[in-house]
Amino acid sequence: MCKVYLLLGGNLGNRENNISLALNYLEKEIGVICKKSSIYETKAWGLRHQPDFLNLAVEMKTDLKPLDILKRTQEIENLLGRRREEKWGARTMDIDILFHDDIIIQTKELTIPHHLIMDRMFVLKPLNEIAPNLIHPILNQTIDQLLKSCLDTLLVKQRIT
Ligand code: AMP
Repeated sequence: MCKVYLLLGGNLGNRENNISLALNYLEKEIGVICKKSSIYETKAWGLRHQPDFLNLAVEMKTDLKPLDILKRTQEIENLLGRRREEKWGARTMDIDILFHDDIIIQTKELTIPHHLIMDRMFVLKPLNEIAPNLIHPILNQTIDQLLKSCLDTLLVKQRIT
């Protein structure tokens, strides 16, 4: 069994409902969700004048290989009505693979660890809630250390439920 971390995010439609549908699909298609962060509300990065995003991170156990996970997460994005139009555009659901054990993959289709982990507060904050001591296999720093040195100033608010 491998340990995989995913980041879910969306800013269109019923955002909470899309997240809970995505979590159900992930358990059906990929494996067991062992840990789940709170939901974080985030200003849209890159393009302004968009609704705010909801993001959350999950830790999963799975037997699937990284490319099979990518295929299935893209199917889930499509099931939830994802349209691939503009870069950084609004979307109903985006699922990024952050880590897959300490595997390093750098191909055209797939980069693991995800290349934006250390630069985006909307990734680091939810991830730090469930895996502060996880070590980034390229940077050799924990998520907590990466969070403390991240320069991203975008507002990321934890939702208290
Ligand atoms: P996005 O617009 O964020 O859904 O990204 C689109 C593309 O990013 C996909 O077609 C993937 O092939 C590629 N990609 C590369 N690395 C990753 C990753 N770690 N997780 C998810 N998508 C990835």
